[in-house]
Amino acid sequence: MTRLVILGAGTAGTMLASKLAKANLPDLTITVVDQNDDHHYQPGYLFIPFGTYRPEQVVRSRAAQLSKQVTFLRQTIERVDPDGRQVHLAGESALAYDWLVIASGTAPRPDQTPGLMDERVWRRSAFDFYTLDGAEALHAALANFEGGRLLVHISEMPIKCPVAPLEFAFLADDYFRGRRMRHKVDITYVTPLDGAFTKPVASARLGNLLEEKSIRLASDFAVAGVDPQASTLNSYDGRHLPFDLLVTVPVNMGAQFVIDSGLGDDLGFVPVDKHTLQSVAHERIFAIGDATNVPTSKAGAVAHFEVDHLVRNLTAAMAGQPLPSSYDGHANCFVEAGRGKALLLDFNYDTEPLTGLFPAPVVGPMKLLGASRINHLGKLAFEKIYWNLLLPGKPLPVPNEMSMSGKVPATAKK
Ligand SMILES: Cc1cc2nc3c(=O)[nH]c(=O)nc-3n(C[C@H](O)[C@H](O)[C@H](O)COP(=O)(O)OP(=O)(O)OC[C@H]3O[C@@H](n4cnc5c(N)ncnc54)[C@H](O)[C@@H]3O)c2cc1C
Repeated sequence: MTRLVILGAGTAGTMLASKLAKANLPDLTITVVDQNDDHHYQPGYLFIPFGTYRPEQVVRSRAAQLSKQVTFLRQTIERVDPDGRQVHLAGESALAYDWLVIASGTAPRPDQTPGLMDERVWRRSAFDFYTLDGAEALHAALANFEGGRLLVHISEMPIKCPVAPLEFAFLADDYFRGRRMRHKVDITYVTPLDGAFTKPVASARLGNLLEEKSIRLASDFAVAGVDPQASTLNSYDGRHLPFDLLVTVPVNMGAQFVIDSGLGDDLGFVPVDKHTLQSVAHERIFAIGDATNVPTSKAGAVAHFEVDHLVRNLTAAMAGQPLPSSYDGHANCFVEAGRGKALLLDFNYDTEPLTGLFPAPVVGPMKLLGASRINHLGKLAFEKIYWNLLLPGKPLPVPNEMSMSGKVPATAKK
């Protein structure tokens, strides 16, 4: 028997387990470990603060998403011993493996920003929406907000779903318009990047949208901390931004057990070959999804584009063959733009987001890099696709590799 252990039953771990179970490889046991039984549809967190999603809508049982051929262990992972090929779990039990996949994602770490978790501000005037309880608390805070300075802030890159804070700013503009109090709210988008986004072409387009919605941009903001007394967000270059409401995306780090096992980089992400997803340090370890250090977005869509490559590479590795499959960094992100429209970005390691149509070159129906109603409907439909097609490992009519067919390079000009 070959023992394959997957650490994490989130988006990536569940999809991988489903695909491997379907592959019916002889003499393979698949064990998936996660710390609880609550699988969260994280893209839904964005809408909870605005009351358009209910918290209970985004949670389902993990066990129910996993194939019957998979053993699910509900345990906290404490450490991996790559030399002994063991995973140490809470309660001093250990799990032996022949092959290991790390799919433990990334977690928001508000403790990494001095002053942010001070009780005078945390969950009083400073909130996150990258956790379910954060999104719920922010819902109440927005409902009670009577106006003032709202900062929408990214602490440090990389973060998962790097467009989500921009979407939050666009939706906040809509939300306050809906409440007829937009004139009372001064919104500033605060980012460590030199523009609205990481990719120059998309950054220019998204920066224009900020301008159109009268949202200020504070760029190159390397956060030093929060002053809870003065209610300011401070940068290393001496800027102090006052706030009445701070919506921050805290530093995102890999799982603590990755750090404690010496398997991560400075932020706890697992260094892997960006094409094969094999650990650069240990040949029997692979990683997928947000847990890796691959230089593309951290997104569920990325985990989906990675998973077939990983199945092929793991199968080959277990058979003692060279790794055949190469992931190209393909990512796509829907960006809610407010007023019932969304943009769609499609890119990979080598190619900037392009204009054109997606997924089919002539018929689309989704428009790349432009705001449209159909993109917004696509974003909303993603939830059903997630639970019913992605997690059970069913095929989707979207190529894993980025296709150049029908696409036009966009210019960064306004
Ligand atoms: C607000 C928001 C909006 C988003 N919007 C989109 C979107 O529109 N489109 C998109 O593609 N992506 C979006 N994402 C990103 C997407 O949700 C993630 O990229 C995706 O879930 C990553 O999957 P993963 O399996 O790598 O990590 P996760 O799904 O986070 O799973 C990691 C798992 O590891 C487990 N784990 C960690 N440490 C331990 C431990 N010590 N012991 C046991 N278990 C452990 C966790 O419990 C978790 O279940 C969004 C994310 C957020 C927060």
